[in-house]
Amino acid sequence: MINSRDIADLHPRVQPLAHAFIAKCAANGIDVLITSTYRDAESQAALYAKGRTAPGPKVTNAKPGQSWHNWRCAFDFAPIVNGKAMWNDTALFVRCGQIAESVGLEWAGRWKSFTEMAHCQYTGGLTLADFQAGKTLKA
Ligand SMILES: [Zn+2]
Repeated sequence: MINSRDIADLHPRVQPLAHAFIAKCAANGIDVLITSTYRDAESQAALYAKGRTAPGPKVTNAKPGQSWHNWRCAFDFAPIVNGKAMWNDTALFVRCGQIAESVGLEWAGRWKSFTEMAHCQYTGGLTLADFQAGKTLKA
């Protein structure tokens, strides 16, 4: 079961965007921690089970293969202040999200449904169905 926090586990096309995001946040005085990058199918299945067949609240609507994390195109982050993840600081997440967008990432804080303040992705205009059919990002 793989649930990586390593940028090196992202798609080679996405890695430089993640690095640019972290660098630009730092340049703006914001430390960010990457909390999740690539997840394998087994790890996604375990997440999907939460709130369904496993205890706790639901944390995702994505089954294995339906999350961009499974395709190495997404990462989650948290802004860090004085060593603590600022999960509830919406304004700080918005600043980070704007920075993510400025380096070419899609920020899920912008989404109308299933808003995720901590989630960024780059899909290169491809869909999950494209990836499931064997397509991938151009390097
Ligand atoms: Zn995510």
